[in-house]
Amino acid sequence: MQFYSLNHKAPKVGLEEAITRGIAPDKGLYFPEEIKALPKSFFDKIEELDNNEIAFEAIKQFVEGAIPEDKLKEIIADVLSFEFPLEEIEENVAALELFHGPTMAFKDVGARFMARCLGYFAAKKETREPVTVLVATSGDTGGAVARGFLNVEGVDVVILYPTGKVSDVQEKQLTTLGANITALEVDGVFDDCQRMVKKAFLDDEITANRKLTSANSINIARWLPQLFYFLFAYKQAKKQGKELVFSVPSGNFGNICAGIVAHKLGMPVKQFVASVNSNKVVPEYLKTGVYDPKPSVATISNAMDVGDPSNFIRIQQLFDNDLKALSAKLTSYSFNDAETKEAMKDIFEKTGYIADPHGAVGYLGLKKYTAENNNESDVYGVFLETAHPVKFLPVVEEVIPQKIEIPEQIKEVIDKEKVSIKIKDYEEFKAFLTQK
Ligand SMILES: *Cc1c(COP(=O)(O)O)cnc(C)c1O
Repeated sequence: MQFYSLNHKAPKVGLEEAITRGIAPDKGLYFPEEIKALPKSFFDKIEELDNNEIAFEAIKQFVEGAIPEDKLKEIIADVLSFEFPLEEIEENVAALELFHGPTMAFKDVGARFMARCLGYFAAKKETREPVTVLVATSGDTGGAVARGFLNVEGVDVVILYPTGKVSDVQEKQLTTLGANITALEVDGVFDDCQRMVKKAFLDDEITANRKLTSANSINIARWLPQLFYFLFAYKQAKKQGKELVFSVPSGNFGNICAGIVAHKLGMPVKQFVASVNSNKVVPEYLKTGVYDPKPSVATISNAMDVGDPSNFIRIQQLFDNDLKALSAKLTSYSFNDAETKEAMKDIFEKTGYIADPHGAVGYLGLKKYTAENNNESDVYGVFLETAHPVKFLPVVEEVIPQKIEIPEQIKEVIDKEKVSIKIKDYEEFKAFLTQK
C-alpha cells in the first residue's frame, strides 16, 4: 500500500518511509491511498476470531509490501498482550477500557506498534543507520512511547516534557527507564517543547547527522492501529443486537479518526460522538462551518487540551471533505471541568464505576447524544475509557469518596529514581542532539 500527503505536494511513499518520516516533506499528514472494506463474513463471524486475528485482518492491507505476514502476526501478538474489556456500567451503556497496558492509557497500543515496526525496519537494514524518535509530551504520550521503544535496537528516543507540568506518575513513567530512552526536562510549557521538536526537524545541522522521526499520532504507525479498539468493542457488543454509538474523548482526534476507519472497513456504527473539554474547535466547526483553531486552554482532562487537532484533516478526508456527510456521522459536544467532575461523581454514585476525567467527558457526550436523539433504549452506547483513574489521582480523589488502589504497573515505577537532563532553550537542545 502507498500513502500520499494530504498537502498533495510530496511523492507517494510506502509504509516504511511514511513511518520513518512521520510527516511528509510538504508538511502534510500521510493518508492511505485506498481503504478496502473487509468482507461481510468478517463481521458476521467476528465472535469466532481472537483479538490478534481481528487486528491482523484489519491492518493487513495497509502493511502489505512493507512487513511480511508472519512478522506482522508476531508484532500484533506482542503489541496486544493485554485485555480490552467492555464493561457495562448501566443499561445500554458500556465503558471500553483501554487502560490495561503498561502505562495505563490508550496510547500504549499505537506506541508499541510503531516501536516494533521501526525496530523491524532498523534490523533489516545493512547500514543500521540509527533513528532518533523525538517526542514532545504533555503527559501520557511520553510514557507510552518510552515504554514502547525501550530496548528497541537501532532506535533512540528523546522525550521533551515541561518541568513541573506533568503528574508525578507520568514523570516517573518517562524518566526512570534509562537504556535508549532520554528524558529532557524543559524549562517552559508544553508548547515550548513542541516548538523545539518542530524546529529540530527543520534544522539541517541536526538532520545532517541524525535521522529523525516523530511519535505522535500524526505518525501512521501510531494512529492506524487504534482502529483495533473499535473492532474489539464491536465483537463484545454485537450480542446486544443494537446499533452502536461510540463516544470518544478527543484531543488530537487520532483515536476517533481510527474508529471512522474501522467503520470504512465495513463495521456497522450508528454514530460517532467526539466528546471534548473546553477546547472546542470541532463542535464549533460542526455548528458554524468555520474551522477556527485557538491556543489550548488547560483543563482537568489535560490529554485533550488541544486547540488545533492535528488529525481532523484526516477525518475530513474520510468524508471526502464533505461537511454535510461528516456531520451526519459525527456529532461533537464540549463539556467544562465542573460538568466533568459532576459526571465523575454521578457515575460513581449511580453505578459504582470510577471514571477518569477523560472517560467522564466521553460518558457525558454519549448521554447528551442519546438524550437529544431520544434513542437511549434503541442503541448500545460505548464510551472509551482512555486512561486509568490513578493517572489523574488529585482530581479523582477530590470527587470520589473512596481510596483508589494503585495498580502494579504504577507501583513498579513510582519508587524508581528519576533521571532527566535539564534544558533551558533550543540551543541547549540542539547541542544535546549534535553531541554524538
Ligand atoms: C491522548 C489522550 C486522549 C486524546 O486522544 P486523541 O487521539 O488525541 O484524540 C484522550 N484521553 C487520554 C487519556 C489520552 O491520553
